[in-house]
Amino acid sequence: MMEVKRNILLNPGPATTTDSVKMAQVVPDICPREKEFGDLMEYVSLELTKIVASPDKYTTVLFGGSGTASVEAVLSSVIPRDKKVVIVNNGAYGKRMCQISEVYGLNYLEFKSSPIEPLDLAELEKVIAADKDISHLAVIHNETTTGLLNNLDDLGRLVKKYQLEFIVDAMSSYAALPISMEDQNIHYLCASSNKNIQGMAGVGFVISRIASLEKLKGQKPRSFYLDLYSQYQNFLSTHQMRFTPPVQTLYALKQAIIEAKAEGIPARYERYSASWRLLTDELKKMGLEYLVEDQYHSRIITSIFIPDGVDFDHLHDFFYQKGYTIYPGKVNEYNTFRIANIGAINADDMGGFVKLLKEYLNK
Ligand SMILES: *Cc1c(COP(=O)(O)O)cnc(C)c1O
Repeated sequence: MMEVKRNILLNPGPATTTDSVKMAQVVPDICPREKEFGDLMEYVSLELTKIVASPDKYTTVLFGGSGTASVEAVLSSVIPRDKKVVIVNNGAYGKRMCQISEVYGLNYLEFKSSPIEPLDLAELEKVIAADKDISHLAVIHNETTTGLLNNLDDLGRLVKKYQLEFIVDAMSSYAALPISMEDQNIHYLCASSNKNIQGMAGVGFVISRIASLEKLKGQKPRSFYLDLYSQYQNFLSTHQMRFTPPVQTLYALKQAIIEAKAEGIPARYERYSASWRLLTDELKKMGLEYLVEDQYHSRIITSIFIPDGVDFDHLHDFFYQKGYTIYPGKVNEYNTFRIANIGAINADDMGGFVKLLKEYLNK
């Protein structure tokens, strides 16, 4: 197999991939309307579902698009016109759900919460209990802004108590952190091909409760391309996406799924966690601080305070030349940069990063 230069991506996706995933894209040209390609998509859809739910009750709807497309598909498709969605905003991605809702003119209630502390469940319950028009709760699982984890067990219980539907953006937790859609009362879960599943960018998908999808029949969609129900119905009858799929990305996604199954999701999360422990142990030794206490932290991405006198762009370029990509911060209140520990990298790679960081700061 041809070797490709290995870059260590410490940005929160697209993540570093294996050479076998990269090479899986080099295939004979094929028309995606052929049965052979439909079978590939059927495999991909089924296996993506099985990571978090039983295929008897849940199914995965695939879209050509980045992760945001999957979030936009859900928000624009599932909220009835006479109902409201409550959106938890404790970071840039929660805010993005509000921005999407704004564009579509949805009836939404923003529940703002600290980007570094766990949300106040009692306060959220008060908001929900006070308004009979609320039908949906939308939340980010791992807020990629800071690594703050929203507790899906607690939120799932709340959703059940008030008989709401639960929308979860699990973009940066899916295929790493344990999720059970059934136990956690999740109706729609959004993820993408290029984060913890370790595939190429280009597929956004929504793992959905089939009974909830079926209820959308006849409800007028707000988007043509991102219409969740039509995409689901069409796939059910033809094993095709409605419009041209990202063909080669789907071949890579199949290979990435095979590799994820071989490693096992718990083992994958343990590998990620080992890198995270190494990173945060070393940061502590160096006297560098990061946002979010360990007990509320996803161990997927860390938002580190930039030391006085350090310029992010200069730091970025220093690492980039050496094959490491670091990522800017996203919380306005704090001057931080971000280090993700996902993808086909391990603790040795993180050790390499830490060693260089020490060198840089000593200069
Ligand atoms: C990465 C990410 C997204 C989607 O980003 P895209 O650039 O559209 O792929 C959405 N939500 C969260 C929490 C993310 O981490």
